Amino acid sequence: MNIERLRRQLTERLSELEGRLASVRQDLRKSHSADSAEQAQERENEEVESAIGVEAEQSIREIRLALERLESGDYGECDRCGEPIPEARLLARPETTRCVACAE
Ligand SMILES: [Zn+2]
Repeated sequence: MNIERLRRQLTERLSELEGRLASVRQDLRKSHSADSAEQAQERENEEVESAIGVEAEQSIREIRLALERLESGDYGECDRCGEPIPEARLLARPETTRCVACAE
């Protein structure tokens, strides 16, 4: 397994997600307009932004754990059946902790 490639991928994805999270948080801090129709639109946007933020936070946690597993050598084993996760799956979704069969 190409650990270096996986680590690079995870690290890149991590910084991408952290960037996204930061911009979501910035958007959510923006002050609201005085117009009530615009406020309704703003609230809607905020809900979408919040959902994106929650998703990004979740992914960031998963990626940090994956990086820890890479360091400790536990990486690439399914946490349910203990079988090795196929490399193609890890490359497509490096933060995964389960093989295809167990993930479903
Ligand atoms: Zn499994």
